[in-house]
Amino acid sequence: MSESIRELIIIGGGPAGYTAALYAARANLEPLVIEGFQWGGQLMITSDVENYPGYPEGVLGPEMMKDFRRQADRFGAEFISDDVTRVDFSERPFRVYVGDDEYRAEAVVVATGANARQLGLPSERNLQGRGVSYCAVCDAAFFREKNVVIVGGGDSAMEEATFLTKFADKVTVVHRRDEFRASPIMLDRARANDKIDWVTNAVVDQVVGETEVTAIRTRDVTTDEVSELPADGLFVAIGHDPNTQLFVGQLDMDEAGYLVTHDGTSTNVEGVFAAGDVVDHTYRQAVTAAGMGCMAALDAERWLTAREGHPHAALAAPRD
Ligand code: NAP
Repeated sequence: MSESIRELIIIGGGPAGYTAALYAARANLEPLVIEGFQWGGQLMITSDVENYPGYPEGVLGPEMMKDFRRQADRFGAEFISDDVTRVDFSERPFRVYVGDDEYRAEAVVVATGANARQLGLPSERNLQGRGVSYCAVCDAAFFREKNVVIVGGGDSAMEEATFLTKFADKVTVVHRRDEFRASPIMLDRARANDKIDWVTNAVVDQVVGETEVTAIRTRDVTTDEVSELPADGLFVAIGHDPNTQLFVGQLDMDEAGYLVTHDGTSTNVEGVFAAGDVVDHTYRQAVTAAGMGCMAALDAERWLTAREGHPHAALAAPRD
C-alpha cells in the first residue's frame, strides 16, 4: 500500500525525533513521525531527569517523552507507533517501509538514537531506573554518600567512575579482564583516585534487590568464585550501539556505526538529515539530542524551500 508523497518523514521517537517533529509541524511541513513500536527512546528506562532545562523540580523520563510527543502532536505531527523495516534513499521521493506499507517523502530526518549496551540479566532489567543506570552524568547525584559499582573497562567506565566519586563514597569498577581498553591517561586518573576499588577478571552475575539495588553479585571468570558487593547502585558502562542497521549501504557511517553528518545535520544523501544519538557519541544527552533535532528540522525546511524554488528561497538557504 502506498500513500501520497509527503514533505518530511522523521524516523525515530526520542528527544531528537520529537523536537524535529515540533519544528517541522510548526513550519507547516506536516511531518509523519514513524516513532517506533517502543517510542520514547532511552528516557523510557530512566526515572528522574533533573538536568533537562525547564523542569526545575525534575521529571520522570517517560513523562518527559510524553510531553515532547504531545507538543509535536499539538501542531499537527502525525505518528505511526511502529518500527521502520526498510528504507530506500536511492532516489527521491525517498521510500520508508513499515512492513508492507510504503511511505514516501521529499526529505527524511533520521533520529533513531542509540542504545546503551546492557548486561542482559533479568535482575538488571527489573531494577532499571531503581538503582541500575546507564548514564553517570544523569544519575550520579542520586548516589551521594552511597556505594556504587560500575561495569566496564573502557574510557566511558573510567570517566564515569571518576565522575561518580564526586558524589559516592565508594565506587567499585568491575571488569571482565585484567587489561583495560581505556586509554592510559583515563585509566591512570581513575587508578589515582582512592575512592575507586577494582575487581578484575570478574563479571556481574546478578543485581541483588527487590525494589532497589542492595548488592551486586560477581563471578570471577578464572575461578568461578561468586562474591557479593554491598551496593546501592550499578552503573553499566560497556558501550553504546547506534541504531543504524537500516541504513547500511545507504548512509555514510563511522567505524562504530554512527551516521556521519556535514554542514549541520546533512548526510551524504541530499535531503536526508540526521540528529541525536544516532550521530553523536560524545554528548548523548536529551538536551543535545533535542537541539540537533531542531537543527535537522530547520535544515530540512531550508533545503525543501530552496529546492522548490520558493519565493523566499533566497532568505531560507543557504546558510554560511
Ligand atoms: P568501549 O571502548 O567499547 O569499552 C567497552 C568496555 O565494556 C570494554 O572494556 C569491554 O570489555 C566491556 N564490555 C563490553 N561488553 C561487556 C559485557 N557484556 N560485560 C562486561 N563487560 C563488557 O566503550 P566506551 O568505553 O563506551 O567507549 C566508546 C568510545 O568512546 C571509545 O572510542 C572511547 O575511547 C570513547 N570515549 C572517549 C572518552 C573521552 O575521551 N573522554 C570518554 C568516553 C568514551 P573488553 O575490553 O573485555 O572488551
